[in-house]
Amino acid sequence: MALPEPLPWHEAPWRAFAAARRAGRMPHALLLWGPAGLGKGLLARRIAAALLCEAPEGEGPCGRCRACGLVAAGTHPDLTVTAPEEEGRPITVDAVRELGARLALASHGGGWRVAVLEPAERMNVAAANALLKTLEEPGPDTLLVLVSHLPGRLPPTVRSRCQRLRVPVPPAQEALAWLAARAPQAGPEAHEAALAAAHGAPLLAETLLAEGLLELRAAVLGAWEGARRDPVAAGAL
Ligand SMILES: [Zn+2]
Repeated sequence: MALPEPLPWHEAPWRAFAAARRAGRMPHALLLWGPAGLGKGLLARRIAAALLCEAPEGEGPCGRCRACGLVAAGTHPDLTVTAPEEEGRPITVDAVRELGARLALASHGGGWRVAVLEPAERMNVAAANALLKTLEEPGPDTLLVLVSHLPGRLPPTVRSRCQRLRVPVPPAQEALAWLAARAPQAGPEAHEAALAAAHGAPLLAETLLAEGLLELRAAVLGAWEGARRDPVAAGAL
């Protein structure tokens, strides 16, 4: 399995990470933040791959070696991903303790150990307190990557221990060009409508197009509009 191609709007946070690494100022924890639908989790995996890759090309991962393949497949033994067990559920204290225990072990490959928490704002209070212990006493060659579109919900004590990297919403032209390459069959009008509905987040726009959600949204809005004009018929909605 190959790593996905880097996304153009990840360039700025990627360069900030690479510069810190080059300067020997790698933090113990990163907080990747920005609106939903920008692929922050993919950037977290690219950062993990850059640290775990067996044949790095410049500062980036090669994308093809065994380690990159394991990162892409989510099975690299030195990469831990912690997420809620079910959509909408919290990240529990047990999950964070398990993460801490895994980071305390020696790395399998003799190099970095990376832990990704997503979405980090899903940690409950006990989980965040448990994470603080890991943030305060990180082992050597350990990187925690917190991914969040609601960083304001993280405790300040957690936020302040992370280097914050903002993942920006790309300019519309850049996002439309990317969408056109990814979903050419949809056409420019659909690209613009999807991007507007996704508040400029290209991956969310792509999902809306792929799942036909724009048509559904238009149908629902149309039905409501009809109901507003004809309140008697609204009872049938
Ligand atoms: Zn590689």
